[in-house]
Amino acid sequence: MTNDTERLNLFCTAEDLIDTLPGLVYCARVDEYWTMEFVSAGCLDLAGYQVDELLHNRITCFENLIHPDDRAAVRRQVMDALERGHRYHVEYRIRHRNGQYRWVSERGAAFRSDRSSEPMIAGHIQDATTKKEAEAIYREAERRYRSIFENTIEGIYQSSPDGRFVTANPAMARMFGYSSPEQFVADIKGIEEELYVEPTRRNDFLSLIEQNGQVREFESQAYRRDRSIIWISENARAVRDNDGALLFFEGTVEDITERKVQETVAQYQATHDSLTGLLNRNALACRLAEALERRRPHEYVAVLYVDIDQFKYVNDSLGHHMGDQYLRIVASRLSACLRRGDSVARQGGDEFIVLLEGLSAGEEVDQYAQTILSNISQPWRINSVDIHATCSIGISIAPSDALDADTMLRHADAAMFRAKALGRNNYRHFTANLSNRAFDRLEWSNRLRNALTQGEFLLHYQPKVEVLTGRIVGAEALLRWQTPNGESISPADFIPLAEEVGLIVPIGEWVLREACHMNRQWQCAGYRPIPIAVNISAIQLERADLVEKVIGILEETELTPRYLELEITESALMSDVSQSISTLERLRRVGVRSAIDDFGTGYSSLAHLKRFAVDTLKIDRSFICNITRDRGNISIVQAIISLAHTLGLTVVAEGVETPEEYRLLSARGCDQIQGFYSGRPMPAEALAEKLRAQR
Ligand code: C2E
Ligand code: MG
Ligand code: MG
Repeated sequence: MTNDTERLNLFCTAEDLIDTLPGLVYCARVDEYWTMEFVSAGCLDLAGYQVDELLHNRITCFENLIHPDDRAAVRRQVMDALERGHRYHVEYRIRHRNGQYRWVSERGAAFRSDRSSEPMIAGHIQDATTKKEAEAIYREAERRYRSIFENTIEGIYQSSPDGRFVTANPAMARMFGYSSPEQFVADIKGIEEELYVEPTRRNDFLSLIEQNGQVREFESQAYRRDRSIIWISENARAVRDNDGALLFFEGTVEDITERKVQETVAQYQATHDSLTGLLNRNALACRLAEALERRRPHEYVAVLYVDIDQFKYVNDSLGHHMGDQYLRIVASRLSACLRRGDSVARQGGDEFIVLLEGLSAGEEVDQYAQTILSNISQPWRINSVDIHATCSIGISIAPSDALDADTMLRHADAAMFRAKALGRNNYRHFTANLSNRAFDRLEWSNRLRNALTQGEFLLHYQPKVEVLTGRIVGAEALLRWQTPNGESISPADFIPLAEEVGLIVPIGEWVLREACHMNRQWQCAGYRPIPIAVNISAIQLERADLVEKVIGILEETELTPRYLELEITESALMSDVSQSISTLERLRRVGVRSAIDDFGTGYSSLAHLKRFAVDTLKIDRSFICNITRDRGNISIVQAIISLAHTLGLTVVAEGVETPEEYRLLSARGCDQIQGFYSGRPMPAEALAEKLRAQR
């Protein structure tokens, strides 16, 4: 030590050295003033006093320099340390001579003076303002951070790699239904099982972190404390030590349930039909595409295009409200026909599409179609009225008919249209032929319109023969369509289409005019006058101006009304009974005859029959065709004949093909027969020939 001091003295004294130190080096008595025995020159900078002004309390004592609020604490801490023989370290404020307070940090220790052996302290007081300010800034930052952590609406957490929460903020606790973060952290023992609804989510989280060091907008469903489920979105990262070892994960969590619900609703609305709740056409097209994609080699996928027959009448006669209700009933009946995994969609209007997957045989589809037909045709009761409706179904099957969704749908539509053409309430499989003919509505309606303007329609006439005399006592006008390319299309095919596309009214008018005109010609030629029967479709019957139209055509063609007979099918009459009653009444007043066509196939009751002002009853072909074999049919036909006669009606049997049928009907008292046996439908000249022969 002496050596060192000597060495130092070569350059400067220890005092000089101490004076160069920033801050105040001191030696003081432990009295009530902290009386300074030694003060280094740094006291000028630190407190604004010269050395000799502080020494021995000459101008001021050190106790006075200490902020009054800190004095007691400083003294207590120093005295404490002295008592225990420790060094002390205190921080407090002193007042600079210029009046400003500044923070200082003081370190020191006790010793006993050599001279008086009284206790002394010596130490070093340094300006700590900068450090204190930094601390204050740090504290403020910490406070702000705390405030964010505590008050933000996002959940903030740290979790351990083994799947427990380490820290969480109040928002996090609240989000999951806990009253405090502590409770939340303590309660959840395994994030994997207790937090995520989907147990694999934790693994997804870990592997994403593994790959990218972080996860962004990681959306999952999570359980709250009460086991209710919320949607959360997480942003998180891995926190590692300097060696790269994983310490914990930290992240934020947002409750996105509301957005998810909105998304789900929007998604639902985008894929479902609002009226029926079924899938919509786009969604079905997607499902179909997926089904075709995953179809295994030995499996079939089928599309059934279901169209309600004459839905327009349900809508028009019962109102849109009922129409909507009816569509909902159809939707639920279709849904009831499905197996798990099948889909049904509303294509629009009264059209539905059923998608069947994983079929092992094509024939299964036919069973479905049958089930659908019979389910849909169950009467539907509203205000104690039974409403009957049917549907037509078109079927296409992958892989035989098509392999892509678009073609399958088009093919099924074409097949459905064909089913309609073939009389409704049935189903049809797609055939290549169908597609070649492109049974597309637009094209059909164009072709039909052209047929009318280009004169492609003509009438054939089928005689009605009186059983007693064998004479032709009438004829039915039957519409024929001869297309320019030589094709002859059956009315059974195109009349339903004409009804569907709204062309039956002008076509029907043409038939009326043509038949009346022809009949008038024959009468002018001197043949014995006979009534000609014209078929009237349900749509024509419904129109308020039917009777006026008929009167107009009779006047135009100068035909006596009683030589015109209108054939109206039983089901057309029944679709609006009261309107039918009044129309028939008006026709009778005009003098035009009327007949109930296809009797026995509709739903009319005896009571109704009495109220219809008709002249003739035509027994449907289906009762005649096996009458010679089927005793049941004989009784039905017998009953119809008797019934008709008691009502004063003429009875015509349709579709009589054989002499046996003729004889049997004759024996049962049938008035007239119409059928291949007595004459096929023939061109006008051929009938004229027959009439001439009878003259
Ligand atoms: P419909 O009024 O019941 O006409 C009788 C149908 O039975 C005709 O078929 C006729 O050719 C057929 N037929 C007649 N005798 C026999 C027979 O002995 N055996 C068999 N198997 N069939 C027989 P077509 O001409 O094909 O007409 C079918 C349906 O088309 C008609 O049934 C009618 O409902 C409708 N139709 C025909 N022409 C018109 C028309 O001008 N207007 C309207 N609205 N419908 C029409
Ligand atoms: Mg007829
Ligand atoms: Mg008929």
